[in-house]
Amino acid sequence: MTGVSPTATPAPRMPAAFIGHGSPMNALEHNHYTDAWRAFAAAIPRPAAILAVSAHWYITGTAVTAMARPRTIHDFYGFPDALFAVEYAAPGSADLADEVVRVVDPVWVGLDGDQWGIDHGTWSVLCHMYPDADVPVVQLSIDATKPFDYHLDLGRRLAPLRDQGVLILGSGNIVHNLPRMDGSRPHTGFDWAQRFDRDARAILTEEPGSILDLRGHADFTMAVPTPEHFLPSVFVAGLAAASGETLDVLVDGCAYGSLSMAAYGLGAGPPTAPAEDGAAEAGAAEAGSLPDATVPLANANF
Ligand code: ZN
Repeated sequence: MTGVSPTATPAPRMPAAFIGHGSPMNALEHNHYTDAWRAFAAAIPRPAAILAVSAHWYITGTAVTAMARPRTIHDFYGFPDALFAVEYAAPGSADLADEVVRVVDPVWVGLDGDQWGIDHGTWSVLCHMYPDADVPVVQLSIDATKPFDYHLDLGRRLAPLRDQGVLILGSGNIVHNLPRMDGSRPHTGFDWAQRFDRDARAILTEEPGSILDLRGHADFTMAVPTPEHFLPSVFVAGLAAASGETLDVLVDGCAYGSLSMAAYGLGAGPPTAPAEDGAAEAGAAEAGSLPDATVPLANANF
């Protein structure tokens, strides 16, 4: 795969991450979550390319984007014009798309030449991690027809890409229940959300290959009423299981009652400045700039 790994010298194993992306407004905000995303990117080697598994490409099939110039997709409504004006003009990588097809064989993955692009689950995070949009980006869809263990297995199969300088990025939310969202509590979670988030954290940081045990959790149906935002974490858990590693907490917290903003790194070690130290202070400082002041969340979808 000359386009992704151009040198003969084996690349060091690339870290990976699961990011809780939350509201698309995080693309325009600077808060302790986006600071943690930026710090992770700054701490790891520059990737040759990025393979993103976003909650927002949830379709009846497994596909990778293979176009040279993926479009920026604004797949939400009810947000300010400034968010619809964001363009994330990273190139694609047909070489990485081909390599994904090869490494997951015999699992079948289709090449998408013109249907998708870079959705907000990916660009709302990458615009902080790589603001110059100069690292090629490929997205892998989440197949809505497959059982949970298919996604854990597919995550495992992607592991060789880490040795080719590819940053694998899952983007979703461990807890994501939009109908239960409460705009009056932008920086906290309901008890059930915090319980599920805490127990997910224990599994991801101790035994990520057991993540599917969470399906038996008493709060699972509240935390994961639909699977698409949870499943990107399952891919990253599969990656971790493949290499016998555990995940490190990059940042923690809940928003609007029913969203977990937890993010996890794989293979980069814990953040050098623990995010918890400044979280309360940062939360207070950012309150006026968070979307609860400007966005009618009850009418938004993301
Ligand atoms: Zn989302």
